[in-house]
Amino acid sequence: MSTPYQDRPIPAPLKNPENREYFEAAGNGRLLVKHCPDCGKSHHYPRSFCPFCHSPRVEWREASGRGTLYTYTVTRRAGPTPYALAYVTLEEGPTMLTNIVDCDLDSLSVGQAVKVVFKASEDGTAVPMFTPVLS
Ligand SMILES: [Zn+2]
Repeated sequence: MSTPYQDRPIPAPLKNPENREYFEAAGNGRLLVKHCPDCGKSHHYPRSFCPFCHSPRVEWREASGRGTLYTYTVTRRAGPTPYALAYVTLEEGPTMLTNIVDCDLDSLSVGQAVKVVFKASEDGTAVPMFTPVLS
């Protein structure tokens, strides 16, 4: 069986002061994560305070864009176009809720290597998503 990825309308993300730079960077093909110099951990979704130690000294770092597929589900009943909703764990540590795109959705497997790609949402904002790294 095969379920080829198909482009579908992606809702525009809600923007706020905490994620403005994140989406600006995505528009330039860069994935940012927030890093906390006080406890050394990175987190996602971007916040003004570290969710681990509550430090306000969080800073942006560019992520490698590489990660592994932690878990996923292929939605077949949520609309006319099936898509893969997934959690991806980045090399930098944080796990992101995202979509897996540009592949056969039936070929996915937990633990496989993925890399970031950017898809335009309905208002043109680039949204980070992931695709399998073919070895
Ligand atoms: Zn911290």
